[in-house]
Amino acid sequence: MSENKNLELKEIIKKYPQKRKMLLMPSFSSGRQLLHNLNQEGIKIFNCDLETPLGLLKKSLELQLFNDNLTLIENQQASYLIYRVLIELKAEAKLKYFDQLQLSSGSINLLAGTILEYRMAGYNTEDIEANKFIKAEKTEDLKLINKSYQEKLKQENYLDQAAAYHLALTMEKFNLKEAVIIQPEDIELSSLERKFLNKIKSQSSAAYNFKLNRNNEENFEAEFLAAYGSTNEVNNILRKITEADFKADQTTVYYLSQEPYSQQFYNLAQNYNLAVSFAGGISINNTKAAAVYYNYLAELRENPNYENQLRAADVAHTLLNIIAQLKVKKDIDQEAKNIILRKLKLFIKYFDLLEAKEVVIRRLQDLIKDERVNISGPEPGKIYLAPSTAALYSNRKNEIFIGLEENNISESQSENPVILDFERNYYPNLSLSTEKNKKALLDLETVIYKNSANKLLSYSNYSIQDSREQLPSFLLLDAYRKRETDQTLTFKDFKADAVKTTAFAPDSAANSLNLNEYFLSNFKAADKITNKKELLLNFYPNFEKGLEFLDAELEPEFNKYSGRLSSIFKSEAQLQAEEPVYSSSRLETIAKCPYKYFLNYVLGISAPEEAELDPFSWLSPLEQGTLLHSVFEHFIKEMIESSKQLDSEEKRRLINKILNEEAEKMRLEVIPPSELIYQLKLKELRERTDLFLSLIEMELKDSEPVFVERFFDNYILKLNSGREIKLRGKIDRIDRLNDGSYRIIDYKTGGDYSYSEQEYFKEGTQLQPALYSAAFAEELEAEVREFLYLFVNQGAVKKKYIRKNNRKEKLKEILDILLNTAEAGTFIAAAYDKDNKECKYCDYNQLICEREKDDKLSELFKTSAEAAVKKLRGLKDYE
Ligand code: SF4
Repeated sequence: MSENKNLELKEIIKKYPQKRKMLLMPSFSSGRQLLHNLNQEGIKIFNCDLETPLGLLKKSLELQLFNDNLTLIENQQASYLIYRVLIELKAEAKLKYFDQLQLSSGSINLLAGTILEYRMAGYNTEDIEANKFIKAEKTEDLKLINKSYQEKLKQENYLDQAAAYHLALTMEKFNLKEAVIIQPEDIELSSLERKFLNKIKSQSSAAYNFKLNRNNEENFEAEFLAAYGSTNEVNNILRKITEADFKADQTTVYYLSQEPYSQQFYNLAQNYNLAVSFAGGISINNTKAAAVYYNYLAELRENPNYENQLRAADVAHTLLNIIAQLKVKKDIDQEAKNIILRKLKLFIKYFDLLEAKEVVIRRLQDLIKDERVNISGPEPGKIYLAPSTAALYSNRKNEIFIGLEENNISESQSENPVILDFERNYYPNLSLSTEKNKKALLDLETVIYKNSANKLLSYSNYSIQDSREQLPSFLLLDAYRKRETDQTLTFKDFKADAVKTTAFAPDSAANSLNLNEYFLSNFKAADKITNKKELLLNFYPNFEKGLEFLDAELEPEFNKYSGRLSSIFKSEAQLQAEEPVYSSSRLETIAKCPYKYFLNYVLGISAPEEAELDPFSWLSPLEQGTLLHSVFEHFIKEMIESSKQLDSEEKRRLINKILNEEAEKMRLEVIPPSELIYQLKLKELRERTDLFLSLIEMELKDSEPVFVERFFDNYILKLNSGREIKLRGKIDRIDRLNDGSYRIIDYKTGGDYSYSEQEYFKEGTQLQPALYSAAFAEELEAEVREFLYLFVNQGAVKKKYIRKNNRKEKLKEILDILLNTAEAGTFIAAAYDKDNKECKYCDYNQLICEREKDDKLSELFKTSAEAAVKKLRGLKDYE
């Protein structure tokens, strides 16, 4: 049997260079950090497995659990079992002390957590005795709850952690590989964990404890920081890191409580591309999966159609389906999705009772609200944000402790109300809250006085949220006294001498993190902003280029700032890096506005994807168009495939069924603001599908649909200039006419303001009919008689526009003009034309062009002598 011996970690490694070692740590992340530190210090540790007490327990019991068909459950599931016990005991009116307890998530977690703590301390039902608790009823209730919980575990063949440790302690021999066991001296263990590890160690060849603390109380050095509110505190720390030029991966910021700091660092990381890794992850609330989840619950709360009593498991089931079908791209969204699905599956098993709607919603909100994603260890090139307890295992040079105000430290001192300290006195394996807090404080002191090259200790002297002042902690005063080696110093000295408060404006404008701070700093210094230009240039270096542009814009001639880029694009090859496959809309864009073509197809700029959510409507015009197109496509497909002729009512039922299905799919992608708004939109869409049915009945009765969503992607068209271009396209529908020729149909769901019977090409901005007719004639090897635009929109003046297929030669002339323009690097902006509404509805107008009247660019387009522009003006002749 081996004894625990104390030795320096380096000595242990030296003593057993090749022998198998097991490093026992409180968590894998602390273990990985310790191994990473050793590696950085150049200490190689070979043949070493990382283990935690729980991991070791699972390995020890693996075979036995399998043979006895037992399952080791997680604490969450154990809490749910305790919840079921409480529900049943309450229903049978058996509880006398806890009978009034509201079974909210918070109270369940507290009660279950205490029962599990009691069991991990090695106690069971029999140890609950009358004289040890304040009231006899409490004793009886606790006994009953424990007993029923144990019976439930037995019925289900479950073991909670305590039961599993008890089982492991009955084992004679552990089936573990022989190893030297090493663990930190001050690892915190429950009674059962300690007994179990002692038994394991007794069977190992050697076991060592090692000390990590590198206390530096002697020559303690630290800088003290204070800020007005936690946001300023975090900003101030970031400024300090920048000012001192701390290397990110040599810097850790430690907190006592995770929030609000991790959210604030996450926001900073998002806004300023700050590289941060989060030991405790970030809140799941930052993910798309959580937004969809909460949104559904918010809708449920608003929806008057749902009854007041609901079965939580049913709601969880619906949520499970919604989240399972949710498409996500980012890693954190995928991680959140997995967590939510896992939690819901477990939840459904236990929460199948009817409860008040509000209780169900709260329960489901609570189910995920504390979940974290993106949990990580310290990473190269990143600042590490971690709990102060992690500082024991870290060796980063720069250590910053944040939130060291007194109430943050004293907040942890509340007493556990389920088993009071007075009652805990009878159970020596249970620690008292005062002891726990004392230990937490001692641990904090240990890490604060640990050696590190740079130490910053920060606190916030005001809580903006609660509008109250906050005091620095005694711990800060103590650290100040140690730094000054003067035990007589007071808080007054500390505030006056050691620390200066940072508020919203930094000391110097040069240290500003953003424009707000820069502005405030200047304002504070001079009472006014004296040099606005400097301010802008400081934060937006490209602003200088903007000024250059504004100056050049006033010049009358066609220059590079108004789209004459021939001098920049030296060759055609450079402009078109690879030969493009043109679509009709791409070519039409040149005719509509060459500058728009440049922004979209050459620079690849697109409008921001996430527009602000409109709380009063569901679906943008584009999303609505996509949904309707999909409904029409599915409907016509069913009509083509159906062997039976449907009457009008059957068609109506079919299209409405498809609409409902497609809308349900769409609502998973685009969340409606409320159920009511969703239903209203559905009603509006049904009017559209009714119109669609009547239009195809009236306008397309002489043809029969043969294809839907038909593609061509390699149609080569030889132009008059000799140039050959590759074209692609997709059409909604192709019908066969009685004489065997074809009709191409394009559904339009918007207005028809830019269509007319007479204008076939509309100055080159409508090429699709001629181009598709030519391409499909080749593709189908048959005559395409006509192209028909069908406007499924009550607001359209005319519902159909027909283009006969006889303009291929004209099409080729137009394409030559358009391609010459692009290849010459002539990206002039279109003349502003309020009737044409090109600029009015253009995505780039608000963001880039800001055009709202006939301006200098319009003048330039109308008068420029540039050959390519002249040809563009010539498109007027192609009606
Ligand atoms: S706003 Fe007008 S000028 Fe600007 S890209 Fe759009 S259409 Fe062209």
